[in-house]
Amino acid sequence: MLDLVIRNGLVVNAGGTQRADIGVAGETIVQLGRDIAGATREIDAAGLYVMPGGVDVHTHLDLDLPGFQTAEDFRSGTVAAACGGTTTIVDFCQQRHGQSLREALDIWQAKAAGKAVTDYGFHIVVTDMNADVEKELAGLPAQGVTSFKLFMAYKDAQMVDDRTMLRTFDVARREGALVMVHAENGDAADYLIEKAVAAGNLSTFNHALTRPPRVESEATGRAIALAEMAGAPVYIVHLTCGDALDAVIAGRRRNVDVIAETCTHYLFGTQDDLARPDFEGAKWVLTPPLRTRKDQELLWQSLGNGTLSVVSSDDASWPFEGQKRQADFTRIPNGAPGIEERMIMTYQGVNRGHFNVNRFVEIVSTNPACLFGLAPKKGAVAVGADADIVLWDPEAETVITQSKLNHAVDFTLFEGQKVKGLPRCVVRRGEVIVENGRFCGATGGGRFIRRSRYRR
Ligand code: MN
Ligand code: MN
Repeated sequence: MLDLVIRNGLVVNAGGTQRADIGVAGETIVQLGRDIAGATREIDAAGLYVMPGGVDVHTHLDLDLPGFQTAEDFRSGTVAAACGGTTTIVDFCQQRHGQSLREALDIWQAKAAGKAVTDYGFHIVVTDMNADVEKELAGLPAQGVTSFKLFMAYKDAQMVDDRTMLRTFDVARREGALVMVHAENGDAADYLIEKAVAAGNLSTFNHALTRPPRVESEATGRAIALAEMAGAPVYIVHLTCGDALDAVIAGRRRNVDVIAETCTHYLFGTQDDLARPDFEGAKWVLTPPLRTRKDQELLWQSLGNGTLSVVSSDDASWPFEGQKRQADFTRIPNGAPGIEERMIMTYQGVNRGHFNVNRFVEIVSTNPACLFGLAPKKGAVAVGADADIVLWDPEAETVITQSKLNHAVDFTLFEGQKVKGLPRCVVRRGEVIVENGRFCGATGGGRFIRRSRYRR
């Protein structure tokens, strides 16, 4: 007897839509079609979309910076993710200066173990590069860590030089990993910030003025050029603007394997949000900064036409009270929550006609699963795949508000937004973990996923 059958739903995958029932045995989808026999548990999905669980490949759970700590740990953060329809995350494991990659990964494994309720993997952030680290890096894909992250900004913290980038791209090409890049010219940003501070310009809006589009697009173009020199693929995280899109398009014209992601907040906020009164602007301090309405429109279009491949949350849940609530823009920790809102907000692109529901599934689940070595287990409702399933109600409406969300952090950027299309029920590897929008699973049910190597 099957463990779970989902009946009467409309199965929505990236590649198409079909009316079919789904049979689950244990953790796996074993049947897809009609006339599936009875099961221990049956769910009626009439009127609902049956979609693969969301995959969020850009999160910062349980992260600390000097003086700051995210509100979300791996339990609260993944509970929030699950309530928003996401069943797998890939979080950034940060190598601190002087640390081996092994030490860094052990720390992140300990943060997640016994807490995460979604499945999870880690990208490794490379800060120190030397012969030992290079050797360690080469060994990581065999351990299921198949993506590396580099920062071109945040000098004296994570920022790396072009030589380190080339060495990392070389390892990635040889070992089948994907290098993700935070593309901003860190020296330029620091210089512009110094000038603003010297002139006494400390208001929150200066965050946008000191990291203008060219700071991002120059670094985007350089990252792509370095990847090209190494013959490696490159994944640009949190792309925000038309200028940077142009750099991506130029790279593709030269046949560089460039993939680009944007994040939920860039699809809804603009730099004007930084000027909100009563410190509210501080909530919108995230990096790269929010841009103009025109850039926002270009991002939606680019999700529709394929220039952008993924929407991630870049969840960094610095609390407003006590951490982000500051007047001096240089002191506000960069980043904002969004792990729970990501799929709901991105789905508004379907309502607005920017893309169809299959493309929605592609950018929030299938593409990130394929790019980061989680497919074919994740990213599709298919026989043989993990039973990671979201029952999505395309007609359900609500207004996003802090009190209704499940995250631990004390605000949402999307407060007051009217939305249509909500997750109703979420299944992770065969287990129902969200019902009627509420988490009902056990703490620690998530599992570390050894990801496969990058293949285009
Ligand atoms: Mn970043
Ligand atoms: Mn980030």
